[in-house]
Amino acid sequence: MNSLSRRKFLKITGATVGAAAVITGSGKALFKGADKVNKKIVKGIKKIPTYCDVCFWKCGAIAYVKDGKLWKIEGNPKDPLSKGRLCPRGTGGVSAHYDPERLNSPLIRKKERGEEKWVAVTWGEALDYIAKKMNKIKEKYGPESMALFSHGVGGTFLKHTIKAFGSRNITAPSFAQCRGPRETGFELTFGDVVGSPERTDIKNSKCLVLIGSHLGENMHNTQVQEFAEAVEKGTSIIVVDPRFSVAASKAKYYLPIKPGTDIALLLAWMNVIVKEKLYDIDYVNKYGFGFEQFAAEISQYTPEWAYPETGIEPELIRTTAREMALYKPATLVHPGRHTTWYGDDTQRSRAIALLNALMGSWGRKGGFYLPYNYSVPKYKYPPYPKPEHEPVDNPNHKYPFAEGELLSTGIREATITGKPYPIKGWMVYATNLTQSLPNREETIKAIQNLDLLVVVDIIPSEIAGWADVVLPEVTYLERYDELNTASFRQSFISLRQPVVDAPGDQKPNWWIAKQLAERLGLEKYYPWKDIEEYLDTRLKGAGLSLNELKKKGVVTGPKEPIYFDEGIEPEFYTPSGKIEFYSLQLAEAGFDPVPKYKRPEQPPPGYFRLLFGRAPVHTFSKTQSYPLLHHQMEENVLWVNTDVAKRFGLKNGEYIKLKNTDGVISNKIKVYATERIRTDCVFMVHGFGQTSKQLKSTYLRGASDSQLITRYNTDPIMGGTGMNVNFVTFEWEV
Ligand code: SF4
Repeated sequence: MNSLSRRKFLKITGATVGAAAVITGSGKALFKGADKVNKKIVKGIKKIPTYCDVCFWKCGAIAYVKDGKLWKIEGNPKDPLSKGRLCPRGTGGVSAHYDPERLNSPLIRKKERGEEKWVAVTWGEALDYIAKKMNKIKEKYGPESMALFSHGVGGTFLKHTIKAFGSRNITAPSFAQCRGPRETGFELTFGDVVGSPERTDIKNSKCLVLIGSHLGENMHNTQVQEFAEAVEKGTSIIVVDPRFSVAASKAKYYLPIKPGTDIALLLAWMNVIVKEKLYDIDYVNKYGFGFEQFAAEISQYTPEWAYPETGIEPELIRTTAREMALYKPATLVHPGRHTTWYGDDTQRSRAIALLNALMGSWGRKGGFYLPYNYSVPKYKYPPYPKPEHEPVDNPNHKYPFAEGELLSTGIREATITGKPYPIKGWMVYATNLTQSLPNREETIKAIQNLDLLVVVDIIPSEIAGWADVVLPEVTYLERYDELNTASFRQSFISLRQPVVDAPGDQKPNWWIAKQLAERLGLEKYYPWKDIEEYLDTRLKGAGLSLNELKKKGVVTGPKEPIYFDEGIEPEFYTPSGKIEFYSLQLAEAGFDPVPKYKRPEQPPPGYFRLLFGRAPVHTFSKTQSYPLLHHQMEENVLWVNTDVAKRFGLKNGEYIKLKNTDGVISNKIKVYATERIRTDCVFMVHGFGQTSKQLKSTYLRGASDSQLITRYNTDPIMGGTGMNVNFVTFEWEV
């Protein structure tokens, strides 16, 4: 990264990770001034391409290794996602390898669940134990009673083993606790999902609208780089947020909305745009379905109607609606990613989709492009056994549009109730369920009903603390994984490969999954010797080879048209074959065919809505112990409006606790009194206040939003869990 572009990037992220030192297991710096490494050629350094796993974005990277020691990691300039730059977490990810708190050997629980007392065992003993328990569960309850919670590409082979075992109960909180409502809302409207990475053409947008999207704090590398480009070239930015975020500081218009009223604002914006005929009339006439019913429905939602709901003045609503229209179709109303807020999230996402449809931005430059995947044939396995029962998460299709991925909370509920059939075994891969699912008590209750809980992780995370068996995985820097063929502007394949050896008795996920399958008598599902053979077979099917990809790291496909205006025939996979302003599917299922606004519950006197979000140096609750990232941010703080702080006698920097309306009291957290947040809410970064005693660096550092999220509203359309519905007050006993 050249110095100018790095400066721009860091200005947006508001964070830096000193690339200056790699920390050894003893905590000492390996190299003083390692930042100078780039400036001179150091003899014997190998540059090994791979892709990052500090979050799910999968940025292509180059690891610098000398004498088997990892020096640093930086972006691979040939990779379309990273474009040669990693985010602060990616840069600091090297310290995952050197983390002194890593798990070193398999463990079997010796005391009560949650007491974190284990005995170290061999891999053979651990895997035999798991296979025996899984077979017992299968015998007694059927194979579907084994469920897998898995996050990220590393879960590919465990999913394969569980499917071969006979269960489809495979889930991830990244759907119903994150982007699920967005995908459902967009699919109901355009017949297609937004996808990951998002198909947002940020760098070409002329007007970018961010509604509760904290680009720069929510660090998705490609998007943040494109956001920096957009800022640089003067894109008009409109930010809607109860908190003056980093993104808000780049905005032309900042709308400090009352939390929970976003649908009211979206309806009022659309009211102005339709009434003043500011929409893309040709686009809507050509591709729209049910526009007249839609227009009639939203005619009631004037800016004057929205003002008392949202707190945004009518003139500002009109001005910003006209601003969006000025730049159409290069106006991008960002669909967000973490969209599970209030339980009406599919309808909010649908309102965002409809506003984009009015701008004509779907399939257009500066809006949403049409992405491509590199086609790599799948490995040919024998067919999986057909499960006797449907997945357990959504009995009787209670949530009619819960599609794509299973509902994690549905699987948890079946584990508690035993209905529609019992779930008796959980395997958990790379997701810290006590932090990622709402209502921790319910998660623990479900765990206590299990006959087997296996956790595969690199550190003794909170969820590992509840496990019967803990399997230590190597980090992403020490293993191969499935190929990355994510959809993007241009198709590409990237490879994750080991750049250094694991320091202890840790094993890669593919090895664990294969060994377990063999113990379960499922060896026919693993005809390959090792993952190199598997990857090479797949790559040969695409006319490539593992050796080639090991050297290059990334191979890109041809550049193809990505906009309707470049000759792509628009296709909408909705029942009408058009963009559904009026949703027939929703009407038939008994839901509002055009989104409606319902006023959210308000905090009781003396209480504040608890909002949570991200920091650019941490991923969920996963990275708080990584030494380089830990030193960047050791604990979270509580954003409180300055006036509220005065009223309650809170001093900046003092520690307090929070109590929610169910009486749950948090760990202590530092007050950050600021005018950058409204008076009706407080905010903290997610992932802190962890309770794993084995992780000394993170134990009770800051407070946990998850602990305080005892309530959630379930989206009746797709089963997502709206979590911004908890209220807290201050407690002084520390
Ligand atoms: S966004 Fe950052 S953490 Fe995520 S994959 Fe890219 S570099 Fe790694």
